[in-house]
Amino acid sequence: MATRAELLEAREKLHVAIHAAEEWQDSYKASPITFADLLRLEAALETAVAEYLHELSTRAVDYVDWSRLPEPIKADAGPVANNDDPVWKQEQILLTAAVIDIITDLVATGAVAGETLYAIPVGYSTLEFASLDEAIMQAARKLTADMVSNVTETTRKLIRESVAKSIALGETADYATVRLMNMIDNPIRATIIAQTEPVNAYQAGLKLYAVQSGAKSKTWDGLSGACKICSPVIGKTLELDELFVLANGKQVDRPAGHPRCRCSLIYAY
Ligand SMILES: [Zn+2]
Repeated sequence: MATRAELLEAREKLHVAIHAAEEWQDSYKASPITFADLLRLEAALETAVAEYLHELSTRAVDYVDWSRLPEPIKADAGPVANNDDPVWKQEQILLTAAVIDIITDLVATGAVAGETLYAIPVGYSTLEFASLDEAIMQAARKLTADMVSNVTETTRKLIRESVAKSIALGETADYATVRLMNMIDNPIRATIIAQTEPVNAYQAGLKLYAVQSGAKSKTWDGLSGACKICSPVIGKTLELDELFVLANGKQVDRPAGHPRCRCSLIYAY
């Protein structure tokens, strides 16, 4: 029988094949090498997040004081670990460790794609960093921190919802534990996370390159059929630091505009 590691490797290969065929904007594919890197890193991120959630599902059982059921669920006191409980900090550290190298590589891939596509040398005067590498690492840390904090917030919510449902159904602790583990060990959640963050990270890197190489404007590159939320801004050109207003009113500097957004930007000099 195949080991979990073998299955994960097979899934990563499949992921690259499936996601290469998706509606990525052509500007992603303009550089075949960075596009291949993007797909490979997206697959690696999906595995890393899925593995994290798989292991979290066992730990999450300990974040509930089952002896206190059916006490009501609250954010500051109740059977589930409080928001300020140190376990959440520890979860953030574990998830950060699992993804930060992949996110850093994704930001770097976006910057390399910019170099390949526009071939304009970067000057280091426009940003506050000593080099593009330093800017990439700082951007990756910020993106990772935002992602980790969102995922941990959702995890807390899912644990509370699962326990509240078990209480409502009058389940025994055994049933409630299985419900909780299934709720957390969710490959679909890993897929959604892994289909949004690579675009964020890649576009952050591309923007760093654009700023440092002196780009003057940016044009939203998307397919109206593929992205309803982004449809009002497709083809729209703005100055570098202006914000696009999406169909849902959200203001963004660059894609991703929403989960699973495959839009891009085209810079002009
Ligand atoms: Zn979009």
